[in-house]
Amino acid sequence: MVTEVIKIDRDHPDMSAFEKAGRILKEGGLVAFPTETVYGLGADALDEEASRKIYEAKGRPSDNPLIVHIARMEDLEKIVKKVPEEAVKLAQRYWPGPMTLIMEKSECVPYGTTGGLDTVAVRMPSDPVARELILQGGGYVAAPSANTSGRPSPTTARHVYEDMEGKIPLILDGGPVEIGLESTIVDLTERIPTILRPGYITLEMVREVLGEVQMDKGLISSDSSVRPKAPGMKYRHYAPKADLKIVEGPMEKVIAYINEKASEKERPGIICTEETRSRYLYGDVKCIGSRTDENAIASHLFAILREFDEDGVDAIYSESFESPGLGQAIMNRLLKAAGHQRVDVSQKV
Ligand code: AMP
Ligand code: MG
Repeated sequence: MVTEVIKIDRDHPDMSAFEKAGRILKEGGLVAFPTETVYGLGADALDEEASRKIYEAKGRPSDNPLIVHIARMEDLEKIVKKVPEEAVKLAQRYWPGPMTLIMEKSECVPYGTTGGLDTVAVRMPSDPVARELILQGGGYVAAPSANTSGRPSPTTARHVYEDMEGKIPLILDGGPVEIGLESTIVDLTERIPTILRPGYITLEMVREVLGEVQMDKGLISSDSSVRPKAPGMKYRHYAPKADLKIVEGPMEKVIAYINEKASEKERPGIICTEETRSRYLYGDVKCIGSRTDENAIASHLFAILREFDEDGVDAIYSESFESPGLGQAIMNRLLKAAGHQRVDVSQKV
């Protein structure tokens, strides 16, 4: 299959591109498209056979459900059993935007889309390109991130092309995405609303609207027998080819440790910040942004992990990015990429 890439001029979009993309979706095919979080790999969410193609193209385990994307609030009713009051409140505040809500599914959503679950994940993205595509495609577009399963999520059309060339007919290229981390997932089927995946919308922001909200215990527990509730969160993910370790502790000790380890490797890779860039002496040093701008750090993370694969490094050391806001989402992705390998250097002399 030849994969066509159509550039979308955001100021003067060519509607024929959207019509073409919408036709592919309605005929049961796949289209990759930008959203404000990451690039998505879309199919008609109500067509079981179309959803199956997503799993095939990504090599995604079939028990890992897809997020259904909508563009209008009135479209929500059809795909859920009942719209919970919490969903209305959260949608008023954060939709369209980087937040996914889990609710009981209605009959019309096939199990092929929900990975066999009786619940469905729904999001209304804000990116105008995504919204137009959803409308042209019939209103319900199932779309996970458009990467091969296990690789870092794509934040540019080129990343999508690397993974999907020959496997899908069309990529809409809307330029680099805005946020660069996947949506926050809020489960509304529990007595206490629960965050299953941290993202740009933080726990505090959800609490502002709903009051009592908890983090999924499987995300924060160090006990590996406590499984995350979102099936996708249990898989190794975002992983670069080289071994990645996250180094934690006082910054001076972190820098000393990374320099020492890097000097022992042939082709080390280092993830640092603008504040520490000049302190690293060896290797492929990549600056992820300034510690004063966590949005920049979030938006560069996945691209940097992909670059290390291209550069062919043999080990990667990263500083840690714990912070009250987006830091939680950034560390969640980084820890998954590292297979949870962290080194605490605070006790080192
Ligand atoms: P992605 O589309 O790549 O961002 O992945 C979607 C994430 O949403 C995965 O971690 C899924 O496991 C999770 N997800 C989708 N639907 C559900 C659901 N019904 N219940 C729990 N988690 C879900
Ligand atoms: Mg994904």
